[in-house]
Parts: sequence; structure tokens; C-alpha cells
Amino acid sequence: MFERRATRQIHLGTVAVGGGAPITVQSMTTTKTADVEGTLQQIYALAAAGCDIVRCTCNEPEAAEGLARIVPRSPLPIVADIHHQYKMALAAMEAGVHGLRLNPGNIRRPEHIKAVASEARDRGLPIRIGVNGGSLDPALYDKHGGLTAAAMVESAMQEMAYFDEVGFEAVKISVKASNVPLMVEAYRMLADATDAPLHLGVTEAGPPPAGLVKSTAGIATLLLEGIGDTIRYSLTADPVEEARAGRQLLEALGLRERKNVDLIACPSCGRAEIDVIDVANRAQAAFADREIPLQIAVMGCVVNGPGEAREADLGIAAGNKRGHLFVKGRNVAVVPEDEMVEALVEWADFICENGTDAAIARADTARAEREAQRDRAKLLDDRGDDANNSEQRIVEIRRTIS
Ligand code: SF4
Repeated sequence: MFERRATRQIHLGTVAVGGGAPITVQSMTTTKTADVEGTLQQIYALAAAGCDIVRCTCNEPEAAEGLARIVPRSPLPIVADIHHQYKMALAAMEAGVHGLRLNPGNIRRPEHIKAVASEARDRGLPIRIGVNGGSLDPALYDKHGGLTAAAMVESAMQEMAYFDEVGFEAVKISVKASNVPLMVEAYRMLADATDAPLHLGVTEAGPPPAGLVKSTAGIATLLLEGIGDTIRYSLTADPVEEARAGRQLLEALGLRERKNVDLIACPSCGRAEIDVIDVANRAQAAFADREIPLQIAVMGCVVNGPGEAREADLGIAAGNKRGHLFVKGRNVAVVPEDEMVEALVEWADFICENGTDAAIARADTARAEREAQRDRAKLLDDRGDDANNSEQRIVEIRRTIS
């Protein structure tokens, strides 16, 4: 669909970034890194939600010691986030982390940058140059007359030059800003200036839904231009939400295979026979982060639902106090309305284990189709094509005001 920009490849533990590797999802723990059990719990939840790489702050000696205990038990490669104190980068490497993130805006002394890069080179560890609009080097801010795309790119290239001096090459770069057009411009500029893999993100995007919208606007725009090798949603929310959002974006763009349920649901309308929002939310909670790579539909009415969601692997549509289950558009079963979610979970498990053909083969499709037809006909009879009774309302309105 779109050509991806050719980049160098680096590795964080066993996870490749750049060089044609699948685009990865990142997030960051919000626990104190010294809290080993709490941090590991969050890392496991992130892994279940589709996260590939996790970052933990390393801001104090206790955090570095925590990392030494976390790294051997972590299911994901760990990047230590370093600000201000270059010695924390050295301590994190000693703790066994798989990579570092340095902020060039607040670790500025060349001898410190080169000491970290030399150590990372010797240990074979990658470093992300993480430029952040909010903490740009003041000298560059002044030189460019404020926060500009060129200033952020120059900050990254300056850091790269220090890395080059000590022969360090395993680098990836981010130039994040909270302003979406600025962030997009900076990444485009950076993509022209280097073949290093790029880590995309809109920094300080805020809480959902605005944070999700801003992040998606920036990240998706660049991904569709072939720019970007790894992504992070920076939300003011549980980091699991960040991982889910990142994963869902990549799946929606066809850049990663589906891992969890892709729950689709109709927006509901006057025809809806159930509270679609409630049923969809309960289904979402029931599937949560289970590894069921199916598209599952919740549709408000059997009149239009099965047709509108015929591409889904599995779906259910309400009608006449019953739930009509369909697999790849074929009616397969009818269940009481209050068992719709349980039925979806049971059929999803069956399809996951045995495939859609086996699910259709085990069903009495002729009977299920007859039942669906009957409920569809009854609804059309009862309500007609105009579910909102608009014509009747208009007559009433006219009578009221005449
Ligand atoms: S499936 Fe039925 S309830 Fe849902 S939006 Fe379509 S017509 Fe309305």
C-alpha cells in the first residue's frame, strides 16, 4: 500500500527495530522503578496488551538497582530512560538493560555523552536520541528563534555527531513535540537527514480521547508516508491504554498481524433492539487482552446487522429479545438476549481452536437463518422501514403547532 523508508536495523534484546522489521509498539511504566514487583506487574500487563518494548525511568540509584532485578524477569526488552545524570545511564547498563534513551536537551556535556556512547558500543546496546520539544537545548532554542522542526532535528544531529566520534552506530531517534503539525514536520525533515530508525510519538498528548486523537493524527500521518519504525502513544492514562492504542493503530493500517480481538460494533440507531454500547462494552471486557485474533461484531439489530458486518469472523445481532449469531455472514445460532456476550465468547473460543469452517459445519445454519428471517420480518412488520417513526412525528408536530 505504501513503501516504507529504508532504515538501518538495531536490536533491543531479541526485538529488531528498523531495516524492514515489523513496526513495534512501546510504552513506559508509571511505577517507581525501585518497586520491582509493581513494575513487573505493569510490564506483564503491557506485554498482554501488545507492547513490544518497555521503558522504565532510571533516575536514582534505587531505580538502577530495581532494573537489575526487573530485567531478568521481564517478558519485554527494557529501555532505561535517562535525563540529566549520565551516570544513571552507566548504572542502567550495569543493571543489564537492553537499551537507553538519552535526552540531548538535558545531558549536554560532550564528554558525558561520549562516555555513555562508548560504554554502549562496548556492550552492543542501542541508544535512542530522544529529542523533546519541551526540553530542547536552550542554545538551539535561541539560535532558531524558538521551538522549530529544524531546531529539534539539529539537536538530534549534534548528538549523532558525538556518537560518530566514538564509533557508536546503534542509534534510533525521536523528535517529539506536543504540537502535531510541528512533530510531523520535524520527522519528515529527520527522515531526509538520516537512515537511522525513527521512534514516533506526540509528546504530552494528554488524556483520552484528545490524547488518542493527537497521537493518531501525528503517528498515522507519518506511517502512511512510510516513516517510522517504532511508535509510542504518550497518554495521560494507564500505560496499558497506550500499548492497546499503538497495537490497534498498527493493525488498522495493516502493519501488524491481529493479536487480540478487533471488536467492531454498529453506532446504534433508532432500530437498535439492545443497548449496543452496553453489550459492546461487556464484550470488550470479556475478551480484554486474550489472544483471539478475530474480528467480532456487535450489531444492534438483525434487520441490517448481519449484512453490515458480513466481513467479520463472528458477530451477533439483536432482534425480538434474541441474539442471532453469525460466522462470516452465515447465521449459525440463536441465543436469548441476555446470553449474547457469553455466546460470543464461546463461539470465539471454538473458532480460535477449530476455524470458521468447522464453526459453520457444526451449526444448523438453515434453522438459524429461518429464525433470523422470522425476527427480521417481525421487526419490519412492527416498525416498518422508518424505525424512528419520522413521518408520524411530523404529523404530530404539525398538529401541535397548527
Ligand atoms: S445494525 Fe441496526 S441498530 Fe445498528 S446502526 Fe445498523 S440499522 Fe441501526
